[in-house]
Amino acid sequence: MSDELKENTVATVHYTGTIPKDGRVFDSSLDREPLTFLVGHKQMIPGFEREMLGAKVGEKREFTLASEDAYGAYMEEAVQQVPLEMFGEIAPEPGMTLMSDIGPLRVTKVDGDTITVDFNHELAGEDLTFNVEVVELRDATEEEISHGHAHGPGGHNH
Ligand code: ZN
Repeated sequence: MSDELKENTVATVHYTGTIPKDGRVFDSSLDREPLTFLVGHKQMIPGFEREMLGAKVGEKREFTLASEDAYGAYMEEAVQQVPLEMFGEIAPEPGMTLMSDIGPLRVTKVDGDTITVDFNHELAGEDLTFNVEVVELRDATEEEISHGHAHGPGGHNH
């Protein structure tokens, strides 16, 4: 049995993520099932695993990640203007999130036939604070390690 969170363990955690500048909670597992992930296989944002390494079951940690260790810097060039006809049947409205060939985008402005879209992750450029509690730890199976993700409850089923 693994007694601490390290590469090739499967960790189950409860977490709450807040934006320190205004205290807004952007995500929390506390109202649902805890999160299960395979450590060391890029399932999580980079800073999260680094800060949790060595944690034991029942241990709680709080840490703040700079945006570079979370969802990356906000990139101005990821904001683009596209013609309305690119949306086909969809009538774009500000705040709408849509999938595109190169990832999700958010509609930020509609000005006649010119639509402003933002490909940045909605948390890009934000420092993020996490409160994490380790609920369960176990060694990953060979299959999980070869797949690069956790199986079973809270994980993948393939
Ligand atoms: Zn799998």
